[in-house]
Amino acid sequence: MTSTLTAEAIIRQYHLKLTAPRQQVLELLLSRQEVLTADEIYEALTQKGSALNFSTVYRTLETFTKNKITEKVQIPGSRKSGFLLFTMSHTHNLICLGCHKVIPIHGCPLKAFNEELAAETNFDIVGHDLTVYGYCEKCRRTHPSRQK
Ligand SMILES: [Zn+2]
Ligand SMILES: [Zn+2]
Repeated sequence: MTSTLTAEAIIRQYHLKLTAPRQQVLELLLSRQEVLTADEIYEALTQKGSALNFSTVYRTLETFTKNKITEKVQIPGSRKSGFLLFTMSHTHNLICLGCHKVIPIHGCPLKAFNEELAAETNFDIVGHDLTVYGYCEKCRRTHPSRQK
């Protein structure tokens, strides 16, 4: 389980230098299973008494994303990007646009498609991204879906 890993252990595992900003940002992400924007991360850390400034938080998130500790996702209907932990194993996520909760999807629906595509294009496929957006049960009440 990734949840038992400490921020420090993860940073070391990825061969990054352990710095206070990295540790604080990662600890926050580990404690919240949701997509957070850089602003939200900055605000949450400030509330906890952290003295980090916004550009440090942002730079830390960019470093994490480059090293695949976090994943940067576009939030539809918003110009902001959100960040979430890139789980150690290959998983896909369902993201609620209302509360930004992240629910991992078990299994990969693209396996057969990948194989077909590889055969068709002679491409050595090494990865893919799939994120599904919607509204969770709770948020559906306040955000009616567009279905007729
Ligand atoms: Zn929701
Ligand atoms: Zn997949």
